[in-house]
Amino acid sequence: MMTQQPFLSIVVPCYNEEAVMSELYRRLSAACEPFADAGYEIIFVNDGSVDSTWLQIRAMGLKDSHVRGVCLSRNFGHSMAVTAGLDASKGERVMIIDADLQDPPELLPEMMRLMDEGADVVYGKRLSREAESAFKRISAAVFYRLLTKVSEFPIPQDTGDFRLMKRRVVEEICAMPEYARYIRGMVAWVGFTQVPLPYERKPRYAGNPHYTLHKMLNLALDAFTGFSVHPVRLAFYFGLLMLCGSFGLLLYIGISYAEDNTVRGWASLAFIIVISQAFQWMLLGLIGEYVGRIYQESKRRPHYIVKDTVGGL
Ligand code: UDP
Ligand code: MG
Repeated sequence: MMTQQPFLSIVVPCYNEEAVMSELYRRLSAACEPFADAGYEIIFVNDGSVDSTWLQIRAMGLKDSHVRGVCLSRNFGHSMAVTAGLDASKGERVMIIDADLQDPPELLPEMMRLMDEGADVVYGKRLSREAESAFKRISAAVFYRLLTKVSEFPIPQDTGDFRLMKRRVVEEICAMPEYARYIRGMVAWVGFTQVPLPYERKPRYAGNPHYTLHKMLNLALDAFTGFSVHPVRLAFYFGLLMLCGSFGLLLYIGISYAEDNTVRGWASLAFIIVISQAFQWMLLGLIGEYVGRIYQESKRRPHYIVKDTVGGL
């Protein structure tokens, strides 16, 4: 165990990754070698694996003082595993990387260089997704473009959680108490100087992806609802649209009534239904607006972050 603060922390969420652990450890250690003097730590977070992942992490931790392991009590999901790793990290700079070696650890020097040049966050930007299925590529493309449209601040596109961050940024992320954690969005929200590093995403080294359709949908919902109240406004706009549309319908109802070619009572009933539906939708949207605000407030995020001060403030 390290006593003084290490320069670099690597945070790796691991869920049933027994097939990649030894290769992962080898490549991470090699990438960290230049920082041996400055001090580094590799934090493996075992996210409730049911295979030998934790046994391997334990063994590495006992053998190598650079390795630390955090074992969660069950599978909490990727975002929580990353959060646990960030909470445990002590480094001046912290890298998040997937266990499956889809993101090459060899990019570390390049990320370090960009950070030396002034970046507070260097995030990997995926150039191509050739290694991934057509479904994943298309759904990701739709998701990121939609998210950019509804989000109240820009979240970089085609970006995973593979990134290098300064301690300052990590601390802000750790201070956010919300339960729905869309890490890449939260990092973007923090601000400071964020620089992309384009790279080719490799296929998995071994094992199977754990992001099931269900987990992907959950992540997408966290992203949409965590960074915008726009979805809830849809009800209001829908009501408004119905109100406008219903004028045409009202005209039709009125003409039918005037020409006396309706069943008795139909015109008034149709009128009531159309109008009250439109108002109901709008009211629902209005209520949603308040719920949205309560939701935003209940997150208790800091309202702003001071980057720097001058004059002894
Ligand atoms: N992971 C995790 N908990 C989960 C699912 C995934 O810690 O519930 C880890 C997994 O071990 C890997 C990373 O998150 O290191 C990304 O998972 P995966 O490769 O399955 O996702 P994809 O690359 O398809 O986005
Ligand atoms: Mg993967």
